[in-house]
Amino acid sequence: MRRVCVFCGSSPRTDPRYRQAAERLGRLLAEEGLTVVYGGARIGLMGAMAEATLQQGGKVIGVIPQALVDREIAHPDLTELHIVKSMHQRKALMAELADGFIALPGGLGTLEEFCEVLTWAQLGMHQKPCGMLNLDGYYQHLIEFFDHAVSECFFSPENRSMILIEQEPGLLLQRMRSYRPGQMEKWITPAEA
Ligand code: AMP
Repeated sequence: MRRVCVFCGSSPRTDPRYRQAAERLGRLLAEEGLTVVYGGARIGLMGAMAEATLQQGGKVIGVIPQALVDREIAHPDLTELHIVKSMHQRKALMAELADGFIALPGGLGTLEEFCEVLTWAQLGMHQKPCGMLNLDGYYQHLIEFFDHAVSECFFSPENRSMILIEQEPGLLLQRMRSYRPGQMEKWITPAEA
């Protein structure tokens, strides 16, 4: 794993502990020599995490659509900034550049981005580790929903187990580094088709 894509909230109004966790992860990624790939903004947890990585001497690659350059205030000091045409291109390029994905606490954008990479993993389109930082139980309801989807047979246990969930950034990175993708069952077996 050389480059890790981090999805996280853009809101500037969250409790400071979320910002502190984003900074902790940002510093840790720099210390571990991992390049950060993210949405390129200067606001919210996104900005806090990027800033911490850069201050620790790490590399940060931002990917932002033209329409959001002003609204999310593109970070001016990144190692690289890719300005793309659409949200779809943003997600595709972030996914292509990264060897693994982390969801920090965030809103709908974070959720959408993370669920998309999980969906691609479930379909066998990539084998990259997908980690979720469940800081102070922020994602507890979503995790319960995933388990509900498994018990209702909309989500297979094998695919559920590819979501790596930890409360601590260090532990999460450790699990991502040692992640070995299992042999996923075919989504629909010939007998079920
Ligand atoms: P949020 O978690 O809603 O604060 O958003 C975090 C990041 O996700 C921001 O950079 C948003 O621009 C981005 N985002 C929001 N909606 C989408 C979407 N549908 N597809 C891709 N990125 C999105």
